[in-house]
Amino acid sequence: MQYISTRGGMTPQPFSETLLEGLAPDGGLAVPERMPRVDAATLESWRGLSYPELATEVLGLFATDIPRGDLARMTAAAYAGFPEPVVPLRPIGGGITLVGLSEGPTLAFKDMAMQFLGQVLEYVLEKKDSVLNILGATSGDTGSAAEHALRGKERVAVFMLSPQGRMSPFQRAQMYSLHDENVHNIAVEGVFDDCQNLVKELAGDLDFKRAQHLGAVNSINLARITAQTVYYFWAWLRATDALESPQGFEVSFTVPSGNFGNILSGLFAKGIGVPIRRLVLAANENNVLDEFFRTGVYRPRSAAETLATSSPSMDISKASNLERFIFELLGRDPQRVVAAWRDLDEQGFFDLSAEQPRFTGEFGILSGTSTHADRLATIRSVHEASGELIDPHTADGVKVAREHLEEGVPMLVLETAKPEKFSETITEATGLRVALGDDLAAMLDAPQRVTEMADDAAALRAFIEARALR
Ligand SMILES: *Cc1c(COP(=O)(O)O)cnc(C)c1O
Repeated sequence: MQYISTRGGMTPQPFSETLLEGLAPDGGLAVPERMPRVDAATLESWRGLSYPELATEVLGLFATDIPRGDLARMTAAAYAGFPEPVVPLRPIGGGITLVGLSEGPTLAFKDMAMQFLGQVLEYVLEKKDSVLNILGATSGDTGSAAEHALRGKERVAVFMLSPQGRMSPFQRAQMYSLHDENVHNIAVEGVFDDCQNLVKELAGDLDFKRAQHLGAVNSINLARITAQTVYYFWAWLRATDALESPQGFEVSFTVPSGNFGNILSGLFAKGIGVPIRRLVLAANENNVLDEFFRTGVYRPRSAAETLATSSPSMDISKASNLERFIFELLGRDPQRVVAAWRDLDEQGFFDLSAEQPRFTGEFGILSGTSTHADRLATIRSVHEASGELIDPHTADGVKVAREHLEEGVPMLVLETAKPEKFSETITEATGLRVALGDDLAAMLDAPQRVTEMADDAAALRAFIEARALR
């Protein structure tokens, strides 16, 4: 299996080569040359597999340049720290089942892909006898998932910028309590966009980038998308375990969405052959994607128009993975993709309203928006009905899922974070204090290691030059 760019300007590459780069050289995103296919009998033959075994099968469809035995070793190592069964399913009543994707070390779904990416990065770098210095900016979940996946690795270092004083105490502790030598936390005097701009400036300096072996593990990383595809297979298998003839039985998913990475993985799973009826996109108040899927017009917002909400990991102004969907929508024609993005540059939006009926008809996508008041009401009602506490992002999912229930079709909502991580909102909704286990309480009290820095590219360059692996 080879990978091409959505904009048509990249020589086809194997899976391992797409890992170390962010954007393709032509500014597009890497996509499989054609979607692999799995028939119903093969899918059925995977029913008895453990999560890591299933991951080996599904990732084996994409990473055809990695020997099966190596892949099996990496998936086993990636999910070894998760409690069994890695991804639990929990019915909460009203026809809705939660798919638990937040059992990993940072209590959010990004661990699912990042833990595998950590394994495969180290593997590829070893083969190449090379090193990589990951430079990123985070407002919370991505940075901590990356650090926990890459801590202690020999060939990778992490330089993670975060906005000083703007993360929750829990998020700060999750990152700054790591003392591994290859993890560098940098608290920048500024907001998240200032951090992001520093990353762009340094990564945009190609000489510096090459000399310092800079790389990224952001949400457009193809290995993350493919690793996330696995749990759609898993959830379908578990949701149909009790059926006498599960073949072809359709389920729907609702996905709390930001950069369109998680739900894109669902589209991949559907394309490969998982019987998925609807993929429902749940947005918060920053609902550019809900707007797009309802109207066909995509109009990204400015940083100033982007609200800080109580489901912060969904606070996006534009959705960096959307281009991969647009590529499929436009018949995999790079010229039409380039034309859409040219419209966007020139007029601030593109208009695909003529294609809008196909969003649901062909791809099964529906969408909806949830607000702060909706989150509070949903957290409360789920707790009253089932005794379960859900986090604000998952609550956005449940709220929108309830608007799209269909008789006889199970609705699976992806649980993208644990309530412990966003306890202020849980308390606001229910009056309850979320109890922290001993490990989490200890983490909050552990000594923290972070370098404070002005919003200054020269200072950041010097810091990296002094500490980068080479
Ligand atoms: C990252 C994140 C999301 C959004 O996922 P995308 O892949 O960006 O759509 C939703 N919820 C939580 C808790 C997250 O960390």
